[in-house]
Amino acid sequence: MNAQVHGLHHITAIAGDAQENLDFYTKVMGLRLVKKSINQDAPDTYHLFFADKHGNPGTDLTFFPWPAMQPAQTGAGMAVEVTFAAPGGSLDYWKARLEENGITLKEEIRFGDRHLVFSDPHGLGLALTESDDERDVAAWEKSPVPEDKQLRGMHNTRFQVKELKFTEMLLTEIMGYSRMSEENGWVRYGIDGGTSGNLIEVKADAKLSYGQWGTGGIHHIAFRVKDTEEEMQVRDKVMKFGLMPSQQIDRFWFKSVYFKEPGGVLFELATDGPGFDRDEDPEKLGETLILPPWYEDKREEIEKGLPDLKH
Ligand code: ZN
Repeated sequence: MNAQVHGLHHITAIAGDAQENLDFYTKVMGLRLVKKSINQDAPDTYHLFFADKHGNPGTDLTFFPWPAMQPAQTGAGMAVEVTFAAPGGSLDYWKARLEENGITLKEEIRFGDRHLVFSDPHGLGLALTESDDERDVAAWEKSPVPEDKQLRGMHNTRFQVKELKFTEMLLTEIMGYSRMSEENGWVRYGIDGGTSGNLIEVKADAKLSYGQWGTGGIHHIAFRVKDTEEEMQVRDKVMKFGLMPSQQIDRFWFKSVYFKEPGGVLFELATDGPGFDRDEDPEKLGETLILPPWYEDKREEIEKGLPDLKH
């Protein structure tokens, strides 16, 4: 079996104020805070994980709230949008719900499907489209969104590059994607059948200047691999392709390898397991600050450096 990725695992973005971020994704989008942790490379910053009930791979949008940062600048080398799957027939509900919460949105037909396109309070590009494709997702009974309307995980993401050629080679020859279609300059790639969560779209424009990370910007896109064995096989292929993947890094809930794709976007490979219930009661995910074991002895100091969050 040829090692490859299996669609989106999680996407990590940069937010402004942590409380505003938490309120929007739990109270408006109806996601579950499945993990409240810290940025392992900057422990004075939260790392908040919003997902379905279990934090299934492919449902998880995570944030580093860095309110002191400048707003992100879109451009080459930057992912610009996260599209979530909403259940079939629920977009009118979502349109009304978002508008009631003061969100300005527009409607677009993309590749034949209706999308609601809007931004989160800190400028992150979001979209919703309907999909009932089979996938691992579990409703969260304490969500303010009724179970039959709850988001079903990440559907797609979009990023921009100056030149498509090498990015496309990476996606198709190394990672396992196939080129599916093209519309308005966006080239759509699919993997494992190109169903919901197994899509990605890239637009190339040589005139773009490089973008910059900041609040409302996407930090990286993580792709699913089944386990360490597959991760190391894909890592090897990425290295032979001429890129410079990191060593495997233990993120405790999954194991990660990072590399920049040829257009400049930061990619991550992330294993499906062990999962978010590794260190917390599945009923109580996200309720307390969870630190990786190697930070436990600094808990008091770390907690003092983080703003209070009400949830
Ligand atoms: Zn990540």
